[in-house]
Amino acid sequence: MPRIRDFAFSPALMKPIALLLVLAAAALAEPPNVVIILGDDIGYGDFGCYGSAKIETPNIDALAAGGMRFTNGYATASTCTPTRYALLTGKYAWRQKGTGILSGIAPALIRDGTPTIASVAKQAGYATGVVGKWHLGLGREGPTDYNRRIDSGPNTIGFDHSFIIPATGDRVPCVYLENHAVVNYDPADPIRISYGKNTVGAPTWETHPQLVRPSHRDPVQEIRAGSVVNGICRIGFMTGGNAALWQDDSIADTLVWQARSFIRTNKDKPFLLYLATHDVHAPIAPNPRFLGTSGTGRRGDTIRQFDWCVGEITRTLRDLGIENNTLVLVSSDNGGCGVYQEQERQYGQKLNGPLRGYKVTPYEGGVREPFIIRWPAKVKPGSVNHQIVALVDCLATVAAATGQPLSEAAGPDSFNLLPTLLDPTKPVRDHVITQSGVASHPACARAIRSGKWKLLTQQENPKHKPELYDLDADVAETTNLAGSHPEIVAELNEYLAEATRTGRTR
Ligand code: CA
Repeated sequence: MPRIRDFAFSPALMKPIALLLVLAAAALAEPPNVVIILGDDIGYGDFGCYGSAKIETPNIDALAAGGMRFTNGYATASTCTPTRYALLTGKYAWRQKGTGILSGIAPALIRDGTPTIASVAKQAGYATGVVGKWHLGLGREGPTDYNRRIDSGPNTIGFDHSFIIPATGDRVPCVYLENHAVVNYDPADPIRISYGKNTVGAPTWETHPQLVRPSHRDPVQEIRAGSVVNGICRIGFMTGGNAALWQDDSIADTLVWQARSFIRTNKDKPFLLYLATHDVHAPIAPNPRFLGTSGTGRRGDTIRQFDWCVGEITRTLRDLGIENNTLVLVSSDNGGCGVYQEQERQYGQKLNGPLRGYKVTPYEGGVREPFIIRWPAKVKPGSVNHQIVALVDCLATVAAATGQPLSEAAGPDSFNLLPTLLDPTKPVRDHVITQSGVASHPACARAIRSGKWKLLTQQENPKHKPELYDLDADVAETTNLAGSHPEIVAELNEYLAEATRTGRTR
């Protein structure tokens, strides 16, 4: 097994590096548009092109047929916030404190001045936009005050335009923010929010059960003991802002409309769009036109809605005649959620395909994701790529595609994917480090995948027994080989220690 450092500077990589320089020069001549479509809690087994037997995803399958489908694409965490942090900054989230699952009033996690995919593209003269779920905190200081323009967020880290859901669909506030201000804000009806205790006197599941929609009186909702908004229980408490409340079952339509509008406005210059949809995160309230379309219940119907979103974006690019030189990435922030195991049994449809575990867990089902890149001008249609790649690689890839140098300090864990996009036999990284979202999880806090080996470890907990899996022979992680391969455990542990000590893996 090559050492990380040997790999990073090995002669075997000189060719790709030379190729990259040529590519960077070519990119400067005709820089591609970049559209990143990030799903939410979508599993490795949810799309037809990844083996879903029940849910039809014709638009995503067509995207894969026209581009490259990765079989070892990773989110770097099994929960929302840390994966999104890494995607935007090129830095593993565990390197920064406070990158757990954020509330709706947490301050901005990515500090102004941090290099991001948006700031790098902007430096290259791109129009930059984000539409959809943010969940990375807002405002220089918490708690976030939604009654005034927010002073730190997407627009201060490189995005020219933002239209966002502040946290998640199941967290308050249930309002959109456009360029850091609440859409349809009414000063006569101020927004009051609390997390922890209901200090704002909001109606809840307990006080007003009659307000809860019958369709959302399921076990998933019972863990959301906060405000009832639009008949759906949330995390956190909210009053006011009634004119600004979003309609849950039109969120997908709204985000697609916003995304298409951004693309149309900027079609004549290079642009970068980060479209973070809310599908298929709770509360799973798809538009009624998708209900019953998957044959696998509301979650599957919401996958159908996500597929529609992807189709609307690709259709827009085609209609505008800019499809050929637009790089489109479709993936998700973490795997399918384990609360749907009953539905898995009922419908015979595994969210995470053959993989073990779910969202939050450190197993492959939590972190290995559908990962599709289409770029007709450069990427061979219908290709399949087995190299290890990760969403944290977006930063270096955007930098290379737009011909922008990355400073030594920028994106310390981000590798440029262009070499492997041109030639699927070329590796770009020999390992990836992932984290599980909840530190108290009985399994492990971090995992490292290198070649066929995967080590789950909890270095902070001396009582924890390491788990080692051979993913080539055992993709479902059923047989722990740590006892029979102590030398691999030691080597991977050393990788992890070195990655932590040096503050970088790039
Ligand atoms: Ca998620």
